[in-house]
Amino acid sequence: MSTDADNAGAFSLDLSADVREMRDWVHEFAADVIRPAGAEWDEREETPWPILEEAAKIGLYSLDFFAQQWFEPSGLGIPVAFEELFWGDAGIGLSLVGSGLAAVSVASTGTQEQVGEWIPQMFGGPGEVKLGAFCSSEPDAGSDVGAIRTRAVYDEAADEWTLNGTKTWATNGGIADVHVIVASVDPTLKTRGQASFIVPPGTPGLSQGQKFRKHGIRASHTAEVVLDNVRVPGRCLVGGKEKLDERLARVREGGHGGEQAAMRTFEASRPSVAAMAIGVARAAVEYASDYAKDRVQFGRPIGQNQGVAFMLADMHASVDAARLLTWRAAWMARNRRPFTHAEGSMSKLVAGETAVRVTEQAIQILGGNGYTREYPVERWHRDAKIFTIFEGTSEIQRMLIGRAVTGLDVR
Ligand SMILES: Cc1cc2nc3c(=O)[nH]c(=O)nc-3n(C[C@H](O)[C@H](O)[C@H](O)COP(=O)(O)OP(=O)(O)OC[C@H]3O[C@@H](n4cnc5c(N)ncnc54)[C@H](O)[C@@H]3O)c2cc1C
Repeated sequence: MSTDADNAGAFSLDLSADVREMRDWVHEFAADVIRPAGAEWDEREETPWPILEEAAKIGLYSLDFFAQQWFEPSGLGIPVAFEELFWGDAGIGLSLVGSGLAAVSVASTGTQEQVGEWIPQMFGGPGEVKLGAFCSSEPDAGSDVGAIRTRAVYDEAADEWTLNGTKTWATNGGIADVHVIVASVDPTLKTRGQASFIVPPGTPGLSQGQKFRKHGIRASHTAEVVLDNVRVPGRCLVGGKEKLDERLARVREGGHGGEQAAMRTFEASRPSVAAMAIGVARAAVEYASDYAKDRVQFGRPIGQNQGVAFMLADMHASVDAARLLTWRAAWMARNRRPFTHAEGSMSKLVAGETAVRVTEQAIQILGGNGYTREYPVERWHRDAKIFTIFEGTSEIQRMLIGRAVTGLDVR
């Protein structure tokens, strides 16, 4: 049995040589390709296909790269990679990693066959880049996932499911090759009566509704997805029918039905989303620090004023603090430590709010320049705001942390 003494000295915040090498490689792509293109694709408000293609060519937009980082032993592969990509640009970054949420939703609860069949089709390869979309939110079911109205009905004779409903806010929605749809199989059971379904490319009845014109991350496509009598084969139920039937039977008997699939997807992906926010925050802090050293007022750099230097000190410290929470959660998730204090939510909450605060402070440090589109900090501020909204708003994260730390049914 290992003792505390055996483990003395085991703690380390050093990244492995592999992770450091990967970080430098991703950073180079972010600095040379993503960052210079950020303003253009923000204005165009379109998926940056040429950049996805370039990333696919070097193997950065690929299932191999995602899988390698996902299974990196320390758990830090994904957070380190995402921080660098989003340091480059958040809209382009989300286009590059948006398929990941759909992939995780299948990887976390799907069968081996489903993982092998569908996840490669969410990435494609050089010359044929493909996308995945994870569709949970609906017009009347955002934070309240239990209110999902999209219905999945099974036709036993044909071994087919029929999906009907409208999804909203779907990243890559309507333009993805593979859509993963969260639908209700038994509405009386709320979240515990839900399941996820894979909709294969070109399935009739699935169409894009409204494409949203957004405040930030405008290079990432966000749209409604309409499901009108969409029929998918039985093998497209994520995890399989047997598992679903067992789970529903347990719930109906009043037992625990396990976590609902969408919830598990969100929980697993929270530290990754936190890392995205940290990338944006770090970009702004670095930019504002450089600016404060160069900009002279009253005969000295503005950074020599305590008012500005203290702001920079707080900004740097809070980004580092957010990163530490994120790395802790990512390490826990990879090493199968349960989030007993909602550590995944803590990382997402703190990183998201830090990104909003420090990008606003960066605008302040740049003064009038910060408020213009000639400088990137106004875009980064718009981009940062998404991190207090998607993948569970800040209020929802506080609710989850509140429940975990008190054991009470906080609402
Ligand atoms: C750009 C973008 C991309 C997205 N991508 C995806 C995607 O790929 N797939 C997907 O499924 N969804 C996606 N979403 C949806 C996103 O997850 C939801 O917007 C989010 O969960 C909030 O839901 P809502 O917008 O309906 O807000 P609401 O749930 O209506 O919340 C509105 C406000 O009320 C607060 N609130 C709600 N309930 C409570 C409560 N119990 N206690 C305290 N406060 C509360 C919220 O915190 C918020 O401030 C995306 C959203 C955006 C904007």
